[in-house]
Amino acid sequence: MTTVQEVKTLTHFIGGKLIDGKSGRFGSVFNPTTGKVIAKVPLANAEETREAIEKAQVAFPQWRDTSVSKRAEIVLRFRNLITENIEELLQIICTESGKTLEDAKGEITRGLESVDLAIGAPQLMKGEYSVNVGGQINAYSAKYPLGVVAAISPFNFPIMVPLAQTSMAIAVGNAVVLKASERVPMTALYVSELWKKAGLPDGIWTVVNGDKDVVNELLENPAVQAISFVGSTPVAKYIYETGAKYGKRVTALGGGKNNMVVMPDADLEQVANAFIGAAYGAASQRCMAISTIMPVGKETADQLVEILREKIANLKVGSYTNPETDFGPVISQQSKEAIIAAINRGEAEGATVVCDGRDLDIVKESEGFFVGPTLLDNVKPGMEIYEQEIFGPARNVVRVDSLEEAIQLINRHELGNGVTIFTNDGLAARKFTTEIDVGMVGVNVPIPIPVGYHNFAGFKGSRFGEGHMFGPDQARFFTKTKTISERWMTGHTTSTFAFLSNND
Ligand code: NAD
Repeated sequence: MTTVQEVKTLTHFIGGKLIDGKSGRFGSVFNPTTGKVIAKVPLANAEETREAIEKAQVAFPQWRDTSVSKRAEIVLRFRNLITENIEELLQIICTESGKTLEDAKGEITRGLESVDLAIGAPQLMKGEYSVNVGGQINAYSAKYPLGVVAAISPFNFPIMVPLAQTSMAIAVGNAVVLKASERVPMTALYVSELWKKAGLPDGIWTVVNGDKDVVNELLENPAVQAISFVGSTPVAKYIYETGAKYGKRVTALGGGKNNMVVMPDADLEQVANAFIGAAYGAASQRCMAISTIMPVGKETADQLVEILREKIANLKVGSYTNPETDFGPVISQQSKEAIIAAINRGEAEGATVVCDGRDLDIVKESEGFFVGPTLLDNVKPGMEIYEQEIFGPARNVVRVDSLEEAIQLINRHELGNGVTIFTNDGLAARKFTTEIDVGMVGVNVPIPIPVGYHNFAGFKGSRFGEGHMFGPDQARFFTKTKTISERWMTGHTTSTFAFLSNND
């Protein structure tokens, strides 16, 4: 049993200070590896959120008017502080999310890519200029920050997603209010301290912890100009529709159901290794995790399933404190139960269980939220396990007869985040990349996550709104473009006129 003394009470970060919650409502933060409560997170009400937004609003003009190179310098200092404090950050991330050290390191590295891009804000803020567009008229377009902008984050990347949502927003001159996931709030609070140490003015970075009460205030408050949301598809849709109703600029990234298509000419050993990491890494709690492997042709499928059976049996599920661990627990007991229930229904609907993650001792005996690696063969469209995003290590084999069939199935699915094909045939790869209706596409790569200086987003139900996470599009999303046409007439009206040319 957890004693009250062991459980830390967390705060918000408002106006540059750690501030206690006032609502009287708290959520439990678990260590998913032990199943124990490690902290209580305050769940802010609308009034507390409003106060935080007001502080951000007051801080904004001075930050907007700070030179872009000075802003970039502070972002660079923040970047250095992340790397200097990486050990502490890793501990916090692993404790509250359960992911392995390697995975947490990878997450920080990817998050830093977006900070690096934000350091280049002076370049991305550059506008356009045309001379002589009319009689003595010059025209230019310049980018201005929006004001107070909000980010709402999911649990599965406690640092990478918030960094990708906010670094550019800050660098281009906005004041950011982050609502971190209430399941992993400790990382965001630690990041707040790093921003403070980097010299970011109070009020430019705010963390309001909480649940939908905070989100609804962010959506409705007229001072909030833009919302960057990352999370599940139903919530993403709600955020997009509600944000639009209140006149906000919204990008809302949703869930994924990502396929790996395997052509008969692919090296199956290589494919299997790629699948194992891309499908089960981080206990499959990645929006870009491969959910479904789609071998083309019976022979490819039969061989692949046998190779996978052997490799999956060798995967080690356990605590991040053990360096041998391949992946850790899922985020909560509810999540564990939901994944096991989805496997049960998949089996009842006719899928063949090739590897059964429900059977491991650690799944049955530990109080941590473990689910073992599961592979279901003969999964078909219409089955729940095919249609729904299962955010845990239950993965599918969908057998198809042709590349054409694979493309049609993938294009018909509601979600379109990531997809990849393994083949040695250039024509097959070209057909695939041309015809597939998915936002991020790979050829012979396990997970096609773009590097931080390319735009990141899915299609269809995986993204609502036109913005991207990561990439140069962030600078566009978090700025507004003003176009100015300017004429300075010659005449006797200015006091400097006499000095403009030689007086003969
Ligand atoms: P979630 O949708 O449950 O929560 C995301 C955020 O929304 C949290 O901050 C949460 O507090 C808030 N929220 C939840 N329900 C809400 C409601 N009814 N009203 C208002 N706000 C609400 O997602 P999660 O479980 O934290 O994260 C996992 C999901 O995120 C998966 O679906 C995953 O695919 C997705 N994800 C997508 C991407 C991407 O880039 N597309 C990246 C990471 C995660």
